[in-house]
Amino acid sequence: MTRAEGRPAWWSMSITRTALRLVPPGAARERWQRELVAELYGLDRGQQARHTLGVVSRAAALRAAVTSRDRLVPEDVMTKGFRCRLGWHKWAHRYTDQHAHYLVCRRCHKQEDPPDFLPPAANPML
Ligand SMILES: [Zn+2]
Repeated sequence: MTRAEGRPAWWSMSITRTALRLVPPGAARERWQRELVAELYGLDRGQQARHTLGVVSRAAALRAAVTSRDRLVPEDVMTKGFRCRLGWHKWAHRYTDQHAHYLVCRRCHKQEDPPDFLPPAANPML
């Protein structure tokens, strides 16, 4: 049986994904699984074994880092008010130190260009 060039062995991908089940389900776990499995590509079997062992030995530490109180960042969608999620922002006009005009939402702090904004290169008045 031939395997695709650079593709990691099944056991290395499987053990890596399984070890990362220590990380609570969600975006963090998915991101770490994708990232650490992607790192296996192109490694020889010995390197895959070392990488996999490294993931297994550090999965608990990764879980602790991901779940520690000072690392928990509320999801943007959870902190954003209902109206802002619907796109009904409460815009306020603001200016940068270089006097560039922009809008900022008073509730969610989203920033946007004002409706009459033209990029400097396209603005004939500059
Ligand atoms: Zn808003």
